[in-house]
Amino acid sequence: MTAHKTAQVEEYGAWLTEFLPIDYYERYRQYRWDIPLRRDYQRAAFEAGWLQPSWPREYGGRSLGLRDAMEIRLEAAMRSAPKLPNIAGPNVVAPGIRRFGTPEQIDRLLVPLLRGDEWWALGMSEPEAGSDFASLRTRAEIDGDLFRVNGHKIWTTQAHESRWCTLYARTDPDAPKHRGISCLILDLHSSGIRIEPIRMASVSDETFCEVFLDDVEVPAENLLGPLNGGWNVALSSLHHERQMIWIMNWVEIKRGLDSIRGTQDEDIYTELGSLLADAEALRATGYRALDNELAGRSSPEADIMKLLGSVTLQRVWELRAASEGPSSAGDPDLLFERQDALAATIYGGTSEVQRNIIAERLLGLPKG
Ligand SMILES: Cc1cc2nc3c(=O)[nH]c(=O)nc-3n(C[C@H](O)[C@H](O)[C@H](O)COP(=O)(O)OP(=O)(O)OC[C@H]3O[C@@H](n4cnc5c(N)ncnc54)[C@H](O)[C@@H]3O)c2cc1C
Repeated sequence: MTAHKTAQVEEYGAWLTEFLPIDYYERYRQYRWDIPLRRDYQRAAFEAGWLQPSWPREYGGRSLGLRDAMEIRLEAAMRSAPKLPNIAGPNVVAPGIRRFGTPEQIDRLLVPLLRGDEWWALGMSEPEAGSDFASLRTRAEIDGDLFRVNGHKIWTTQAHESRWCTLYARTDPDAPKHRGISCLILDLHSSGIRIEPIRMASVSDETFCEVFLDDVEVPAENLLGPLNGGWNVALSSLHHERQMIWIMNWVEIKRGLDSIRGTQDEDIYTELGSLLADAEALRATGYRALDNELAGRSSPEADIMKLLGSVTLQRVWELRAASEGPSSAGDPDLLFERQDALAATIYGGTSEVQRNIIAERLLGLPKG
């Protein structure tokens, strides 16, 4: 990383120190689950301009360049700043609203989202359409000045606590699959919606839900982006998240590697060396992606970083468990890290699908 902290990073660091409770690091195990603290952090970061550092002041930023914004995110991750309580809102939905929203949508929705006053869910996956998102079956039929929606979504994180959902639905059943999808801004308080949390085996405060939609009426003005243009809204929203996700992965990988204690086992040393190399490869690729962005070039590294970051993180916590031996099974913190790292290789595109994309689109290999 940079040898000297920039003035902005210094300022953010001082602000964070001021914000955090005095015993934050001593009691981090409790604070990481503390939703009121995490809510306060989001609101305070929005007001101080640290939430989306590259955005203008009215949207929780300071109009900083991409490099400065990245250094601030890195500082936040290295100092284990509180995790945003509804991460999909600021990281996935907000960029989509800013890019595709009408002035009225931006005016009504963006600030409550960024302050964390209104939570958002992502209505993409369906029981028969996960990796193959373009096959989704939820239908939205135009009926006068509204859409009438019927269908079923699954794995909709935090839907039961959210006010809004970006709902992807089929609006043209005759068009090629990915050209007939639209993104609707769904008010989750509308009638005809049933939300059922799914019981989870893992420890998490990000509960999965199923969302059942039975003749739900969505006003036509809640269309986000062009009619039948939902595919691009989804890609663009997810791209924003991927630009930055490597930073969190890299910091977590370092944290995991630092936690592995001395061992005599040669296999563990070999894997440790391999993981240290992969962590550096991730960091170097992250900086290369940033250089491409700054130069206005397309950044094909995002898929590589998603795959490498999540797989490496998973290997790190498995190695930590192996280095501790059978006693590791009784360590609830380690169990949480292992489950969390497992999830990271699934959401936002599974590792197998990322490998397909890298093989076909980046390396130009023939389809298998
Ligand atoms: C923590 C977490 C949070 C999530 N939050 C949300 C959310 O908020 N909103 C939402 O809409 N979704 C969410 N998801 C769902 C996520 O997007 C899907 O799980 C993911 O897209 C995979 O879809 P699937 O589960 O249907 O698996 P499937 O697509 O059925 O895949 C099953 C297996 O087959 C493999 N596979 C599938 N296709 C191919 C292929 N072409 N080539 C090779 N292998 C293949 C996959 O890699 C996987 O191993 C979340 C998932 C997780 C884990």
